[in-house]
Amino acid sequence: MVESALNILSGGGDKLRILVAEDHLLNQMLMKRIFEKMHIDCDFANDGQEAVEACHKNNYDLVFMDITMPLRDGYEATKMIRGTNQRQPYIVALTANATNEDKQKCFEAGMNEFMPKPISLEKIHMMMGKMAKIKMDKMYGG
Ligand SMILES: [Mg+2]
Repeated sequence: MVESALNILSGGGDKLRILVAEDHLLNQMLMKRIFEKMHIDCDFANDGQEAVEACHKNNYDLVFMDITMPLRDGYEATKMIRGTNQRQPYIVALTANATNEDKQKCFEAGMNEFMPKPISLEKIHMMMGKMAKIKMDKMYGG
């Protein structure tokens, strides 16, 4: 299930490119281990500014965006990424705050999805499956 979801997300051919923008080292390590288990590489950004720069340099398919980060928070970084005319990544907000107001703010900033912390293997798997379904629906008009 997860393997086929990953194939769909990467368009069947090209490797899926993932950026994790997260300032907390332990969360970075956790995400790294989860993606290693799924046999996919991911890049890391340590703050919002690095996230914006990484997105300018690379065409990511998927960005996990922490909200609370130094230099630029996740909202600001997302708005900057959305303000460019390059190929847009699917952006998933990472935050412990899960009020409707917070979610609304994420969507207003241009994020596509919302994944509440704490991060877990199950949540990442679920998110990948969900995104694969969205992409399939877009491709085949589901
Ligand atoms: Mg943070």
